[in-house]
Amino acid sequence: MKALRLDHIGVAVQSLESVLPVWRDLLGLPVEEIEEVPEVKVRVAKLSTGNTTIELVEPLPGEEATRRFLDKRGEGIHHICLEVADLAAATAELVARGMKPVLATPRAGAGGRLVNFLSPKDAHGVLIELSQRVAAAGT
Ligand code: ZN
Repeated sequence: MKALRLDHIGVAVQSLESVLPVWRDLLGLPVEEIEEVPEVKVRVAKLSTGNTTIELVEPLPGEEATRRFLDKRGEGIHHICLEVADLAAATAELVARGMKPVLATPRAGAGGRLVNFLSPKDAHGVLIELSQRVAAAGT
């Protein structure tokens, strides 16, 4: 598999409103957008660092994975995201090499991208998101 770049770092937060004063106002990172992703029941604030993006992820009612993370470990770095050119090919290659991506088939994520994940169990403690830009989303 070949990664194109570090797309973003995901940070789990209880509430975007309570953490934006740190990331936006104190650290001065511009907010690119705040997006609700109903498919996965989260609200995401994207802040640009210049060479990558910090994604603050707030679970909405009914969301489970991020909520479980927050309950167990508290707020903090949740995942890193690597961009790939062809996520289906990357997923197939990882499976062929004995890895078990979280999703059998990539799904839509923030920004209309296709995403899949490698479990922290398979990646030495780091949840790794793999992401592919989709031309139809205009990105
Ligand atoms: Zn992410």
